[in-house]
Amino acid sequence: MNWAFVGASTIASQYMLDAVRQQADNDVTWVVSNSPDRVQTWAKEHSIPNATTDLNAALSDDGVKAVYISSTNEKHHGQAMAAIAAGKHVLCEKPLGMTQAEAVEMVRAADAAGVTFGTNHHLRCSGSHRAIRNLIADGRVGEVLSLRIHHAVHLPENLQGWRINSADAGGGVIPDIVVHDADVTRFLLNEDPVSVVAQMASSGMGQGVEDSCMSVWTMPSGAMVMTHESFTHPFAGSGLQVHGTEGSIFADGIMTQRPVGAIQLVTEAGSEEIPFSDHSLYVHGVSEFVAAAAGQGRPAADGPDGVKSLSIALSVREAAASGERINIDYGGF
Ligand code: NDP
Repeated sequence: MNWAFVGASTIASQYMLDAVRQQADNDVTWVVSNSPDRVQTWAKEHSIPNATTDLNAALSDDGVKAVYISSTNEKHHGQAMAAIAAGKHVLCEKPLGMTQAEAVEMVRAADAAGVTFGTNHHLRCSGSHRAIRNLIADGRVGEVLSLRIHHAVHLPENLQGWRINSADAGGGVIPDIVVHDADVTRFLLNEDPVSVVAQMASSGMGQGVEDSCMSVWTMPSGAMVMTHESFTHPFAGSGLQVHGTEGSIFADGIMTQRPVGAIQLVTEAGSEEIPFSDHSLYVHGVSEFVAAAAGQGRPAADGPDGVKSLSIALSVREAAASGERINIDYGGF
């Protein structure tokens, strides 16, 4: 399957080009960017035969079957709608859009067009998160009482651009990281939060957007979820804990792009290290997307998953801005 990459971005060059090229019979044949100079340089650097600033030029190539969108967040909706209208399968970066209405429109359009639509939530593709999900599903912690996610990182200098200074481009830690934690929570607990309370702050990086957030979510089962996201924490590390009536899971260093970290299960029987696969998160995610496009299974995270993670993140922001508890509306999904 030939792909067009829309967005000459860091995530595309660091992970996604390789993830596509590792799939049998898949390659990237176009790159689309807003900058005439950058797109030529980027294409040459990554051996991509076609470079353009005109999205329609790439979309009108019948050889292109899939489009990966990793532009800044405000562009996702328009680019995805154009790709879907051209009959392409779409793998879109999170957050799917700036608003829930945008995300819903994209997912409904893909459904109507009969194309595969995926959201690039990589964490649910990791061996560590899948091992934790299995522990929970197998009842190893008993009834889940609580989930604590700590995902406060230090944004690398090369990414300290639109994420920290442009609300118009979808900056802020809530659209950037809370969406991932929302997807992880839904994936691990297999249920959707019903309401949230939250606070947000600018603690040194955010210019007109929040760079830190803490929130507490209510789950239908009664489990409580607590999350902490930030761009400004150099030494906090990341991870999550799941606490249940029969055991606790302590997972360190797993809220990351690489297959690293460690998982301990603690029960009355003692402490046990849980092994997990160290496959690439992104290669795995693309492989599930490619299979889905070929009619086998579904993408690791599909369109409704992307609508839901965005709906939760937007509710967290609304809760933080208003000081109110917000009931989450999933836009019909
Ligand atoms: P970047 O800032 O690297 O790229 C975003 C856009 O900024 C590019 O499409 C490009 O625009 C422009 N740009 C990039 N580098 C430069 C540069 N040196 N000079 C001028 N313009 C530049 O963003 P990310 O790769 O970090 O994020 C892109 C998207 O991917 C976002 O939606 C983000 O949320 C998502 N993301 C997802 C991750 C995941 O694990 N699922 C991880 C990281 C990001 P143009 O294409 O027009 O040239």
